[in-house]
Amino acid sequence: MPAKNAGTTEPMPPFPESWGGRRYHSISQAYQQRFGQKVHKLALSVSQSCPNRSSEIGVCVFCDEWGSAGIYVRPELSVAAQIAAYKAGMKERFRTQGFLAYFQPYTNSFTRTQDLERQLRAALEDSEVLGLIIGTRPDCLNKSLFPLLAELAQETYVCVELGVQSFEDPALDFLNRGHDAAQSTEAILRLKEVPGLEVGVHLIFGLPHEGDQEILFAAHETNRLGVNNVKLHNLHVLKNTPLETLYRQGDFTPLELEEYARRVVLFLEHANPTLAVGRLAAKASREEELVAPAWTAQKMLPINRIEGMLKAQNTWQSRLWTGEAPWT
Ligand code: SF4
Repeated sequence: MPAKNAGTTEPMPPFPESWGGRRYHSISQAYQQRFGQKVHKLALSVSQSCPNRSSEIGVCVFCDEWGSAGIYVRPELSVAAQIAAYKAGMKERFRTQGFLAYFQPYTNSFTRTQDLERQLRAALEDSEVLGLIIGTRPDCLNKSLFPLLAELAQETYVCVELGVQSFEDPALDFLNRGHDAAQSTEAILRLKEVPGLEVGVHLIFGLPHEGDQEILFAAHETNRLGVNNVKLHNLHVLKNTPLETLYRQGDFTPLELEEYARRVVLFLEHANPTLAVGRLAAKASREEELVAPAWTAQKMLPINRIEGMLKAQNTWQSRLWTGEAPWT
């Protein structure tokens, strides 16, 4: 018999109340618990390149000329000026007073560590910035970065967000990532040794030859490695990318929304309950850049479909998590 809510005949939801009624552990709820208030990310741009663009490897197959930057980033401004500009708009929209400085586009550790430190500390000078999120690649973590991360993680909230994308080497080859899955697992394990530091990963679903085993393996690795948060993306086609060429040649077909939602639900069911979900699906930052699939143009459409599927199937994040490898 399911438990009952005190004083009512309503059955208790089988997932934690701290998830705020959602069937997955959203990162907004995780932040609420951690900071005791709503916090919003301020997307900042300081990096202008990455190891792929600066070498013969070339761009990742899905990457546009902006290096995955949001439309609002203003790299020509100092960190302080970017924060001041974005904060004003955020405060008007959300009435919030807590922010995380999110160093997002390109590869933020693809620079001298002392230069990165200067930018990170500039962000922390703002009293309303409650922490840092540093976006980078698994193969771009210099030795000198670790003492800095250890120091900062004692002072404030710090999350390193890695573009892992897949734990499968053939998928990483297709994406032209220029690193393999072993480098990702090694990077996550090294970062997890830094006390207090959080690790986030980006994963892409909808890769060629991807089946349920690959989704389950992604959930397994995320659990096993102790990843703190995850952003899930559908592989979508943007203009002027190598993926657009493959798509137009008929060598790549993006997932339909229904199938993408099914894979996300499968992942969530096998993910552990503490994994915070930062994103359920990608949306093209610049709508005019989107080639396919059309459903990617609408931010809420995939979110509503995934949440609807979780509800219709009466399932939730971690329902099938066993604490062990979910794949055989
Ligand atoms: S996704 Fe990141 S690593 Fe790949 S080409 Fe774009 S900026 Fe570089």
